[in-house]
Amino acid sequence: MSSILTVEGVNKNFSGLKALDDVNLVVEEGSVHAIIGPNGAGKSTFLNCLVGRLVPDTGTVLYYGNKPEGETLFGLPPHAINQKGISRVFQTPEVFEDLTLFENAMIPVMAHLDGSYRFNSWGGVLSRGEIADAAEHILSDVGLLEKRNMHSGSLSRGDKRRLELAMCLAQDPKLLLLDEPTAGMARADTNNTIDLLKKIGEERKITKVIIEHDMHVVFSLATKVSVLARGHIIAEGAPQEMKGDARVQEAYLGG
Ligand code: ADP
Ligand code: MG
Repeated sequence: MSSILTVEGVNKNFSGLKALDDVNLVVEEGSVHAIIGPNGAGKSTFLNCLVGRLVPDTGTVLYYGNKPEGETLFGLPPHAINQKGISRVFQTPEVFEDLTLFENAMIPVMAHLDGSYRFNSWGGVLSRGEIADAAEHILSDVGLLEKRNMHSGSLSRGDKRRLELAMCLAQDPKLLLLDEPTAGMARADTNNTIDLLKKIGEERKITKVIIEHDMHVVFSLATKVSVLARGHIIAEGAPQEMKGDARVQEAYLGG
């Protein structure tokens, strides 16, 4: 397996607090790579460094999604990283609450973030009908088609998360980064989200990095687990190995 993302020696300080302390990580193409760790371990900070919301103080972030020799993501703004095929689902769902689900779904279909148009297979700019079809298709992918005319603000947290996921998938990402995709969800919604992420994994070749607190989610989805504690990766391996690892238990209990 080849790597889609290689992170070396990433450090990030917040006025003296070492949020990330020499983080090294290799994400294999096609894997579901979970990053777990206690609250305050630096998980969100790490993801923010990958998507350009934060710039690491030092380190290397190389992405192999487009070029076999890799390209650096370090210091690029979020939209530039997004255009390379990296999408992110935030810890708090970010959808346009005043718009309907259908209108939300049309946005990523219509245009890339740089304002260039999407083209159809004939090389023409997408027509209104094609945009509407594509928007309906992605809503149907995440089981929200029947709610297409509802305002997004009135959705449950789980449904908002599904909508956000649909909007990410419309961008046809190679790498999908999810920050606690089931945070604040009831068990039934959590299980729906697990099923949805599994389905997406089967149908499309999307590598996923999942930051997750909920072990049930980690063990249901992940092919590899990295454990972050106090800004440093302290253990790494298959989910089953990590389950019984003393370092992991200590990080959680003592964290
Ligand atoms: P996690 O997502 O693992 O819970 P975070 O990455 O959110 O952890 O936070 C790691 C540490 O960095 C915490 O101690 C947090 O308080 C601190 N931190 C995160 N973001 C900021 C910021 N913007 N300014 C100052 N401190 C921050
Ligand atoms: Mg977090």
